Amino acid sequence: LSERLSGVFDRLTKQGALSDEDVKTALREVRVALLEADVSLPVARDFVKAVQEKATGQAVTKSVTPGQQVVKIVHDTLIDVLRGEGEPGALKIDNPPAPILMVGLQGSGKTTTTAKLAKRLKDRDGKRVLMASLDVYRPAAQHQLEVLGKQIGVDTLPIVPGQKPADIAKRAKQQATMGGYDVYMLDTAGRLHIDEVLMDEVQIVRDIATPREILLVVDGLTGQDAVNVAEEFDSKIGITGVVLTRMDGDGRGGAALSMRAVTGKPIKYVGLGEKMDALETFEPERIAGRILGMGDIVALVEKAQETLEAEQAERMMRRFQKGQFNMNDLKMQLEQMMKMGGMESIMGMMPGMAKMSKQVQEAGFDDKVLKRQIALIQSMTKKERANPALLQASRKKRIAKGAGLEVSDLNKLLKMHRQMADMMKKMGKMGKGGMLKQAMK
Ligand code: GDP
Ligand code: MG
Repeated sequence: LSERLSGVFDRLTKQGALSDEDVKTALREVRVALLEADVSLPVARDFVKAVQEKATGQAVTKSVTPGQQVVKIVHDTLIDVLRGEGEPGALKIDNPPAPILMVGLQGSGKTTTTAKLAKRLKDRDGKRVLMASLDVYRPAAQHQLEVLGKQIGVDTLPIVPGQKPADIAKRAKQQATMGGYDVYMLDTAGRLHIDEVLMDEVQIVRDIATPREILLVVDGLTGQDAVNVAEEFDSKIGITGVVLTRMDGDGRGGAALSMRAVTGKPIKYVGLGEKMDALETFEPERIAGRILGMGDIVALVEKAQETLEAEQAERMMRRFQKGQFNMNDLKMQLEQMMKMGGMESIMGMMPGMAKMSKQVQEAGFDDKVLKRQIALIQSMTKKERANPALLQASRKKRIAKGAGLEVSDLNKLLKMHRQMADMMKKMGKMGKGGMLKQAMK
């Protein structure tokens, strides 16, 4: 019995509009998935809230569970958030020589990305590119860029020992103009952490070069930290885009969402390895799948959903066994009937209901009748719905009037409710006593 009943409740919860509870349960899992994917806590929280508002009340597609539906909404929202405006990977590099400033923490992949991007601009767009390293702190840094330049066939600004970053920026600008370059790229020095000196230095360089693009290079494996870095660089320097490196690692890419949420700036490229051609245009769909781990989460959400449904069904069964079948229960059944194509189909599914099914048929149940009955229940107060025994003459009149119907209509509904409640009680008791067969008769 409970199996068949729960089959009905299965359908109850699996159809119609997404309830608050459906959405909340599913989103709890989504939030965990986001955090596991290294999305920063405040960003995950905001994101989940946005999805909740979007999802609640949305109709559930027939063939999917609310959980799947929520995941789809999450997935779509994620792609929306991740996708910036404009063409993916596009750079403002008209008006030669166009300066591109590369900023970020030490070890984030600035130098590597500078070379990768230079190669891409040269190979794909046929641009003449000049690269300059402004990293005067690590002795090998300028040399590193020079080596990469030779490797990819891109010119680097000759190294002059003892120069300050500002001097190098001026020289790069000069050389790019005189040498007829389309683009010049400034690879700045990073720090292990954000500090004032670094920011001041980058600001000075920025004001000299007035770059068309200021790209923040962020290690895609950093989670929570990425947010502070992005916030700081964007507010102090004003970035135009983000490059996420190390997306070839096992990180789940949560930094992408954090970056977008915090800066609102587009993610232009992702670094997918140490090789010079391991740079790709950012694709929101790919990252969204990775962040959510779609397969995982659908399973997770479904599991959560099953538990929820089982709990609900059990709770209802317990109430029915105690003979509690109130107007709210009836209303739910009636609404379900409307969705499921009439009374008969649902009655047919409930053991012991065949008798009533006939009765119902005779009463000529159709959508119109169901709608009227629902209207009557809606016209009741909360107390009345929970306890229909309260309904004496004056209340009946009020309710019927509220629904635009007659008291006789309400009496019919009440009679039906009593019959159903009796039936539920009997079935419940028998179910408890293990006398299922009798109930089936
Ligand atoms: P910088 O200090 O910001 O200039 O960082 P570097 O460009 O010197 O990069 C630091 C290290 O990260 C180097 O060993 C790079 O080869 C490596 N690296 C940079 N980008 C990527 C990437 O997308 N994937 C992987 N696996 N390694 C990268
Ligand atoms: Mg470097």
